[in-house]
Formats: sequence, C-alpha cells, structure tokens
Amino acid sequence: MTTKTIGIIGGGQLGRMLAMAAARLNFRTIILEPQADCPAAQLANRQIAAAYDDPAGLAARVPVYPPPRALEVAQDRLTEKRFINDCGIPTARFHAIDSQADLDAALADFGGQGVLKTRRLGYDGKGQKVFRSAADDAAGAFASLGSVPMILESFVAFERELSVIAARGLDGKVRAFDPAENVHRNGILHTSTVPANVSEATAEAARAAAAAILGKLDYVGVIGIEFFVLADGGLVANEMAPRVHNSGHWTEAACVISQFEQHIRAVAGLSLGNPRRHSDCVMQNLIGDDIDVLPQWLATDDTLVHLYGKTEARPGRKMGHVTTLKR
Ligand code: AMP
Repeated sequence: MTTKTIGIIGGGQLGRMLAMAAARLNFRTIILEPQADCPAAQLANRQIAAAYDDPAGLAARVPVYPPPRALEVAQDRLTEKRFINDCGIPTARFHAIDSQADLDAALADFGGQGVLKTRRLGYDGKGQKVFRSAADDAAGAFASLGSVPMILESFVAFERELSVIAARGLDGKVRAFDPAENVHRNGILHTSTVPANVSEATAEAARAAAAAILGKLDYVGVIGIEFFVLADGGLVANEMAPRVHNSGHWTEAACVISQFEQHIRAVAGLSLGNPRRHSDCVMQNLIGDDIDVLPQWLATDDTLVHLYGKTEARPGRKMGHVTTLKR
C-alpha cells in the first residue's frame, strides 16, 4: 500500500482533528499555516509555515477539495445568500450595504430591525451589529464596522437554531449526519444537542437543502449548513461552511464515522461512511476559562474530552470541547 499525503490549509483545531482522522487511514498530512506550533501541526507530519495565499507555499499540482468555487461562494455573505436562494432555499431578506445611506434605506425597509454583517471575514459574531428596533441608533454604524462592503439581513424571529453536516463523495453520493440543535453565547457556539427538538419533516428538509447545495457546487468533502427554525418548523438558511464544522464535533463520540473521517474519506475518493448516530449526545465548547473546570469533565461519565493544544486561554478562544453521551 503506497502512502498518500493530504495537504490541509489552516492549522487550527479543525485541521488538527482532520490530521488525526487522516492518520488512522494511513494518510500523511502537511499543514499550511503561518503560525508555528499551531494545533494542527502538533499532530501532522509536516508544516509549511507560510501565509494561506503564499504562491510558493501552495505550489503543488494536486486536486483541491472542496472545490475553490465553494469557498468563493461562502466567503462573501452576499454571494452566499444569492447562491442559497438559487438552490431554492429561503434565507433572511437582505440588502447589499456600501454606505451609511444604503444602511439607512435598508433599515427603513426592514422597519428599523436587522443584522448588519461585513460581507467577508466575519466569524463567531465578529463584524456584526444587531438593530432590534427603530429606536436603535444606526448613525455611524457603517463606519464602526470598518466601512467595508456589508449586508443588512432582516431579523429572523427564530425558535431555535439547527445545523446539518453532510458529505459528498467523488462519486456524487451524499450522506448527512443527523441535524444538531445549536445554542450560541456571545455569538459563539456553546452547545450542540442531538437529536434536535424538531419534527422529522424539518430534519428531512435540512438534509434535502444540504443535498441541493452540495449538488449545485459539484462538491467533494464535508459541509456545514446553519439554519434558523421558525415557529411553524420552516427553515431559513443562515450560512454555509465549506469544511468540517464546530456543530459536527459530536460525531466523533456519537457516530462510528466522525465528520473528520468522512471528510478525509471524501477528498481521498474512498467510500463515505455510514453517518448513523448510535447515541444521543450534547457537545459543549470549552471557551477561554471553561478549561479551568477540565477536572470535572474528566470525571464525568460517558464524556469524550477533546483539547486543541493551545497553551494560552484567552477570552473567546476555543480551547477544546466535550461530548457527553445521553443513555
Ligand atoms: P452568523 O455569524 O451569521 O452565524 O450569526 C451569528 C448568530 O447571530 C447566529 O447564530 C444567530 O444567533 C444570530 N443571527 C445572525 N443573523 C441573524 C438574523 N438575520 N436574524 C436573527 N438572528 C441572527
């Protein structure tokens, strides 16, 4: 058996967990990441310490999955929303915002409510401003988020948040994990609970939306798609992440095949695994000081503890996660 090598762009915890899954299937991994001793490089075979867009660092003629087009779509919230709508999936209403005047007009259209987001480089609630009512002062908001291209989304009065992690293989076959119900704190994922408290029709609609998106992108690999669930069970797509996703970390404890292994299988052209869940579970992120109660988690039954090799626990920093099986 020849040993193949998988290159991973990005050296954080997602790359780390992909490298672990790859190793179990006899693949070697190389991480492209500027930061030395990053979480992924601690467990990979090699690191290329270069910027993500360094042409020399990236100079390898190999197939690239997921397809770059998926990244292009997901990196810009405006392109992303239009693409999702083109797949026949509803999103919040939205306006492109390129000036304070655009913002004022868009807020007037949405009755003074909405969520202003930078089109690029926002994550974990960063680069966002929420307008809850017409009384909220919008003056200077465009400048306060950096005067970059933005969108204003209508405010979705959701009942809960849901995400689905799905994979598409090189042969076009799609397999989806059970949707998770997500709770965010300060814009950062706090818990993912499976099964989600939604009807089978809603769960099936989430899987179908994922399949439509994967097919339209001719995608290969794992994708995470986040939704708002309305009171009537209807789904509104929020965003898509063309990679393994924090709300899929529970799969390593509650499924035989994790999202990380599924991604490695997909990009390597192997058969996708069965995403069946063998246990109900709750995944909780360990953010910043949460790591201080590690001894308690280690003493909790049926709990898989996963740490990311980060030495400094800064506020808001994802240090690890725990998944407790419910039986
Ligand atoms: P995002 O960065 O787009 O995932 O947004 C972070 C969180 O902000 C979401 O998980 C929601 O809890 C909330 N949020 C974002 N967009 C909206 C919206 N249009 N309406 C209501 N809540 C939102």
